[in-house]
Amino acid sequence: MDVVLRRGLMVALHRAVSSRFRFPALRAAPLGACRTKKTWPVRFSQEELRKRLTPMQFHVTQERGTESAFTGEFALHKDDGTYTCVVCGAQLFSSNTKFDSGSGWPSFFDLMKEESVSVSDDFSYGMHRVEITCSQCGAHLGHLFDDGPKPSGKRYCINSASLAFQAKDTTTTTSSSSSAAEDGAAGSSASDVKTEL
Ligand SMILES: [Zn+2]
Repeated sequence: MDVVLRRGLMVALHRAVSSRFRFPALRAAPLGACRTKKTWPVRFSQEELRKRLTPMQFHVTQERGTESAFTGEFALHKDDGTYTCVVCGAQLFSSNTKFDSGSGWPSFFDLMKEESVSVSDDFSYGMHRVEITCSQCGAHLGHLFDDGPKPSGKRYCINSASLAFQAKDTTTTTSSSSSAAEDGAAGSSASDVKTEL
């Protein structure tokens, strides 16, 4: 009696499975599966960050979120100054390298310092993108694309929620932004860069 019942169940189950498609969704890698745990020089407790950051800032920087296009406070921001990491305050981008990409996210064609961000492969959403992370605290910033303006050709597409802004007049030092460039772009002037700001 038991055996008959079980066999009947197995047959029914087998039919149900084989008559369906074979779960194609399982082939896609789960979000963030390739991400390796890394320790960063500066660490903050999640509890502190939840208090200090807005829900959107927390979501983007700590959960690798993305704000909607054209909704961030810096998407169309044109003041002179320095953009810093909203989590740890590290200096990331100068307003001199900000350009209007039309994407709806703050876009920069260069970094203030090469080592200020870490890049890694991001295979989420079935795409291959290059993720940009703050080198100091590991905050998610955005993604790097190769369709930026000359001379760098790079487009650092950053969430406003990952950034804070220091207006220029608060810093009196006029430090030159030209640091030792390792790549072939060294020495080329920015004169052929069209800024629409
Ligand atoms: Zn940071």
